[in-house]
Amino acid sequence: MPNHMINRRALLRTGIVAGGLLAGVTSLGTAVFAGTAQQADDPAPDQRPSTPDQAWAALREGNRRWVDGTTTHPHQDAARRKEVAQKQDPFAVVFSCIDSRVAPELVFDTGLGDLFVVRTAGQTIDPLVTGAAEYGPAELGTPLVVVLGHQRCGAVTAAAESLHEHKRLPGELSQIASSLRSAYKRSGGDVDKMIRINTVDVVNQLKKDKLFAPRIAKGKLKVIGAYYSIDTGEVTRLV
Ligand SMILES: [Zn+2]
Repeated sequence: MPNHMINRRALLRTGIVAGGLLAGVTSLGTAVFAGTAQQADDPAPDQRPSTPDQAWAALREGNRRWVDGTTTHPHQDAARRKEVAQKQDPFAVVFSCIDSRVAPELVFDTGLGDLFVVRTAGQTIDPLVTGAAEYGPAELGTPLVVVLGHQRCGAVTAAAESLHEHKRLPGELSQIASSLRSAYKRSGGDVDKMIRINTVDVVNQLKKDKLFAPRIAKGKLKVIGAYYSIDTGEVTRLV
């Protein structure tokens, strides 16, 4: 990409953030980007994925490296730190659990400036969390949101036990159990099923989000659900 293209795009991105402008400027930015020599569905190796499918393909490739033990740890050096110091343009939002074994940057073999990451216990959601997930797609045109549940989720297990025994969890932990009540009821007490049901529930909730729905309708955004296996490291798409 010629330098003036990069600068023009960076300028537009900065304008979006500074001015709080949404759709109009974002689509102009995309138009400038699409005007380069690259084909829309065939990004150059180090070009940021710009469509939902490109973004998912990049995450899948990264996860494949993680599973195979062939990670390349991209974008994790001083040069990348400098590159993204003044602006960021992540290609996906990953909304996952707080679990220490499910770090999105690692399991998708990504680096600095690649992902917006939102994490709560059992990837439970409320308006504050939704706002955090909205930021990338609404302000920067991030094309993909991945809701990532995972095997042996301690939060979902604790919530299931609490709901099963009608014993309130201490402090605000009880909010997590409340948020998972519906998934619990439909799981028949099977925790792994409950993890998957909750993940799909969150996807469906986000798809109805006021800022997401119009972007989804235009094909500019996809919200998908996936499941991470702690045993194998593999991410499998659920919906
Ligand atoms: Zn978890």
